[in-house]
Amino acid sequence: MKTAIVGGGAAGFFLAINLKEMMPEMEVTIFERSQRVLAKVEISGGGRCNCTNTFEEVSDLSQVYPRGHRLLKRLFKGFNHHDAYAWFERHGVPLVIQDDQCVFPEAQDSHAIINCFLSLAHRYHIEIRKSCKVQSLDDVRDYDYVAVTTGGSPKGEGLRWLSALGHEIEAPVPSLFTFEIHDKQLQSLMGLVTDVEAMIPGTKMRASGPLLITHWGFSGPAILKLSSHAARYLAEHDYQSPLAIRWLSLTEQEMITLLHEQVVTQPKKQLTTYNPFGLQQRLWTYLVEKALDTRSQIRWMELNKKDVNRLVNILLNDTYQIAGRAPFKDEFVTCGGISLKAINPSTLESKHVPHLYFAGEVLDIDGITGGFNFQAAWTTAYTIAQAITSHR
Ligand SMILES: Cc1cc2nc3c(=O)[nH]c(=O)nc-3n(C[C@H](O)[C@H](O)[C@H](O)COP(=O)(O)OP(=O)(O)OC[C@H]3O[C@@H](n4cnc5c(N)ncnc54)[C@H](O)[C@@H]3O)c2cc1C
Repeated sequence: MKTAIVGGGAAGFFLAINLKEMMPEMEVTIFERSQRVLAKVEISGGGRCNCTNTFEEVSDLSQVYPRGHRLLKRLFKGFNHHDAYAWFERHGVPLVIQDDQCVFPEAQDSHAIINCFLSLAHRYHIEIRKSCKVQSLDDVRDYDYVAVTTGGSPKGEGLRWLSALGHEIEAPVPSLFTFEIHDKQLQSLMGLVTDVEAMIPGTKMRASGPLLITHWGFSGPAILKLSSHAARYLAEHDYQSPLAIRWLSLTEQEMITLLHEQVVTQPKKQLTTYNPFGLQQRLWTYLVEKALDTRSQIRWMELNKKDVNRLVNILLNDTYQIAGRAPFKDEFVTCGGISLKAINPSTLESKHVPHLYFAGEVLDIDGITGGFNFQAAWTTAYTIAQAITSHR
């Protein structure tokens, strides 16, 4: 029995190794188009490889997998983050959990995972053919099974031969990016980090977490998460869309009460200099100036009903215009790929070509940052290893 794996990345190696462990007599060959395998694993997580997540802060997989959560829920029954954690430790890669629930190799170095994969591939006699690009099934015709683990294809060129075989394709668009905002005043807040809720007005798309103000606009976990949930929407709108920021998690009524309290307790203090919400001082000053403009220098006792409404509106629903997409150098993935309609959800086998399988980012599955994308690669690869070996 022979299996060809097209793509020498995370999913390709994980599949090859598990295939050999489940069925040692299987001949496994990895075809890699470039001269280097596991290139993305190497640079992942800032060179440390955030290889999975504890999922402790995840109550529903749709929070972390905007695409593919239903399929992953099913496949996690066979191989989930606990299994991945145990797998790496069993194979000589001790892991550590950060406070934010992200999981990394204890060595804090992606080479711990690369070395593990390469040494197991060597031990199990997995053949690795580098500089070998597969562009049709003809290129791998001598194999009983073929698994495609070619990763994301942002421009779609890597999906053409698979589309020609009848597979439905979800148009690829980038995910995990930051927002370009043209706003001179905002630049005065460069470097500021604060917890917010970011929303696309008129939609249900929203994300919470730290926001980072950069020299080009907004970044940080809240924005990356929102870029993932809104990846297709923003692509369709050419990355031009309103964005609303909720700077405080208080309710409107709580804010109004707190503002009125200051009128009584701090009447002579200037609004910009006395900040009742615990916001960073320069953020508070910026928000007061944005809300009240020429009245921003008033004292608390001068605050009128209109001022209160304006302040509450800015604190709850501060709107900006997204002017474009800016890169996030630490991680990016492709939303879209082989449609989940084209595969058997239990085995990940093609519905169009028997004995052809898909795993990893080539599928229309992608997650937010935090180790979720590698977990999807491990889970889908493991599923295929089981499906192929169950044929014996
Ligand atoms: C900078 C960066 C940092 C990241 N950090 C993290 C992180 O810390 N945690 C996380 O969970 N995710 C991270 N990701 C996402 C993660 O790397 C991917 O989701 C994951 O690598 C997908 O695995 P894969 O095997 O499907 O694809 P890949 O790892 O991309 O592998 C695909 C392989 O297939 C090869 N290939 C493509 N076409 C062909 C062909 N026709 N023939 C032969 N070979 C082919 C490619 O050259 C490549 O080697 C990061 C991504 C980037 C870009």
